[in-house]
Amino acid sequence: MQISVRQHSDQAAQQTAARSDVLVIGGGPGGATVAALLAERGREVVLIEKARHPRFHIGESLLPLNMPLFERLGVAAEIKEIGMPKYGAEFVSPWHPSAVTFDFANAVDKSFPHAYQVRRSEFDHILFRNAVTKGAVAVEGCRATGVEFNADGAAVSVRHEDGREERLLTRFVVDASGRDTVLASQFGIKRRNPDHNSAAIFGHFSGATRHPGKAEGNISLFWFDHGWFWFIPLNDGVTSIGAVCWPCYMKSRKTDPARFFLETIALCPALAERLRDAKLCSPVTATGNYSYEVKRATGRNYLLLGDAFTFIDPVFSTGVLFAMQSAFAGADTVAACLEDPRRTARALRAFDRSMHHGPKIFSWFIYRVTTPTLRDLFMGPGNAKIQEAVLSVLAGDIFRNTPLGLRLFAFKLVYYVTNLFNPRRTLSAWKKRKQMLQASPAESPAA
Ligand SMILES: Cc1cc2nc3c(=O)[nH]c(=O)nc-3n(C[C@H](O)[C@H](O)[C@H](O)COP(=O)(O)OP(=O)(O)OC[C@H]3O[C@@H](n4cnc5c(N)ncnc54)[C@H](O)[C@@H]3O)c2cc1C
Repeated sequence: MQISVRQHSDQAAQQTAARSDVLVIGGGPGGATVAALLAERGREVVLIEKARHPRFHIGESLLPLNMPLFERLGVAAEIKEIGMPKYGAEFVSPWHPSAVTFDFANAVDKSFPHAYQVRRSEFDHILFRNAVTKGAVAVEGCRATGVEFNADGAAVSVRHEDGREERLLTRFVVDASGRDTVLASQFGIKRRNPDHNSAAIFGHFSGATRHPGKAEGNISLFWFDHGWFWFIPLNDGVTSIGAVCWPCYMKSRKTDPARFFLETIALCPALAERLRDAKLCSPVTATGNYSYEVKRATGRNYLLLGDAFTFIDPVFSTGVLFAMQSAFAGADTVAACLEDPRRTARALRAFDRSMHHGPKIFSWFIYRVTTPTLRDLFMGPGNAKIQEAVLSVLAGDIFRNTPLGLRLFAFKLVYYVTNLFNPRRTLSAWKKRKQMLQASPAESPAA
């Protein structure tokens, strides 16, 4: 079967391809990265994206361990051009006298002292173009509508934005469709995370008060009664603000999203102060409850990566790192499967295991981030060696062999012992969490 695909350059260049080696669904950071890496290895890759770049996406704060991935992809210089350097993360709590800043330079491995804040429209476009430069055939305005698997590959049904429909043949499918979770939805293997629930509302502001000097690009996290806020300064003067709350708080909204957002900001005086002279300069968007997990990341002739596999909570800005990291692992896995089918089962099993690693490490922190004990540990002085390890986690340094195990164990021990010594507080935090999980609907409405 022959397929016609429009190249990213959009010069209406028609290219005909027979069965591709790999078809990647979704041109976000995960999909564009895996497509670039496989094309670089000489594989015939088709990358389909339902939207057109540059397009808006939320998720603007990156982590230091993204940096070596940019180097390996050859896009570091371009990302530097659009990025606001982020040297650390500031935590602000209404229950503590002063803010605390974690500088990435103090992590166990000091080689990655900063990351970037980026406009995702620009960032994703760079990665997408890079995939094309490396040889992937990219088709925008093309939505995957279903996948039929057979013994030696798959047929992916697609609908182009002009209404044309096609079936694209391929040996291997990579689902990088983000929260659309194309394959997991088709297989019915996606489920709400029973241990976590959150929803978000966000927008862009001009004129927000930033910290001076090197700290200008730091992310700030503000706790408040219903969850926490992010404050992400972008390099064009605009600041991204978002509230991540229990879905039942979001359900209490009676007004339009913008008014509700401003009212929510008013509940957090420290943030409201930094936005005193600021103006909302974008539409306000709300997302429903977005914590979910998928039973398995692989199957015969396919794998799922990035948000197409799982999503927990953006509090530690892990989403883009996880998507890109899984794309690097995914590229090795697909290459192994295509090169030597006898290695397929083993390679897919190893990939499946690797997909649980990041979410597992971060889940422990995420599930507890709104508890008073974890807040105290973050805001308090603490042991320097243990703090280094926590900082390494916050920097995303969990996929290499940086020795963190013992120190993280010590941190968790301190957490549990602190809980034991504060039984009433612990019990009340546990009850509140349980109540919120039960009160939160399976899917809360987006605005
Ligand atoms: C409120 C919120 C705040 C966040 N903040 C951060 C943050 O600060 N830092 C961070 O690192 N992460 C953050 N994230 C997470 C981050 O946005 C994601 O983890 C990241 O974008 C995942 O990349 P991906 O490539 O897996 O998916 P995506 O970036 O979502 O890319 C998927 C692509 O697939 C395309 N697609 C979908 N369906 C189809 C289809 N059927 N056919 C063809 N194409 C399709 C989409 O158009 C999209 O371009 C946040 C998320 C939320 C919800």
